[in-house]
Amino acid sequence: MSHKFLIHSNNTPSSKSTEEFLRQKLEMAGIPVSDALEDDVDLIICIGGDGALLRAVHDYDFPTIPFMGINTGHLGFFQEIAPDELDMFIEDYLEEEFSIQPMMTIKAIVEHDDTRDEFTALNEVAVKSNGNHTVHLDISIGGGLIESFSGDGVLISTPAGSTAYNYSLRGSIVDPRLELLQVTPIAPMNSTAYRSFTSSILLPPDLSLGIVPGVSESICTLLVTHDSFSEEYENVSKIEVKLSDQKVNLLRFGNYDFWSKVKEKFL
Ligand code: NAP
Ligand code: MN
Repeated sequence: MSHKFLIHSNNTPSSKSTEEFLRQKLEMAGIPVSDALEDDVDLIICIGGDGALLRAVHDYDFPTIPFMGINTGHLGFFQEIAPDELDMFIEDYLEEEFSIQPMMTIKAIVEHDDTRDEFTALNEVAVKSNGNHTVHLDISIGGGLIESFSGDGVLISTPAGSTAYNYSLRGSIVDPRLELLQVTPIAPMNSTAYRSFTSSILLPPDLSLGIVPGVSESICTLLVTHDSFSEEYENVSKIEVKLSDQKVNLLRFGNYDFWSKVKEKFL
């Protein structure tokens, strides 16, 4: 089988020197490198941290071609190898000694001002206050109202995103082999005036989440985030968050184990 790789690198000095080094090694191995996502590219190599991988996934619009990350960032949870493992990577890749880890993604549809915006995310979508006021959100699951939330907002995380912002909000770490959506409250209020769930709730992938700004509340400017991006809205009528049919495929080598990675990066 013939190969062609695409290299996507962020601009830090260590990423740039790793890229230089990788290009030399690929040339010696006779593997051509493309500068664009052509049809015959079989691997996208992303040099940087998780943020760089997230941006690459968005830049190439969620392709099915696998990504392999080289970690030169801070955490590097998505990233598979370190810069000193390039030889191992090339050898194992050519011998097809790797596996593919499919990651589910989610989609948000924001209805506002008689139009709609659609976003796809690998980590999460969050609907938040854009300043120092509380937001009131009527939240429904599969069409039925479940709670009137008050607080900073809600975050809907994929299993891949469960170790990111979701975890800082005390959400659960989810093994990506499980297909579910996690809805995590951001600073939920609980008083005689307002009642909200205080823990995350888990949804099966065939149920969608509906979010409608509380009608009686005058302030309803919302910040809607997806991965590293965010957008501010004045007149949201409804937000729907559901499983997307796109998957992001990550390349993993023989010693990869999700829970070892969690231990290595978090404990
Ligand atoms: P950033 O603010 O530079 O990075 C946030 C941190 O989250 C980085 O250490 C990043 O790793 C790490 N990260 C990203 N995705 C991860 C994942 N799936 N599992 C574990 N850690 C992950 O922003 P960024 O690099 O563009 O990443 C965007 C993400 O930041 C968002 O999707 C959101 O999850 C997260 N975020 C977290 C908080 C919080 O924890 N309070 C607040 C806002 C946003 P690297 O160092 O390798 O890049
Ligand atoms: Mn980052």
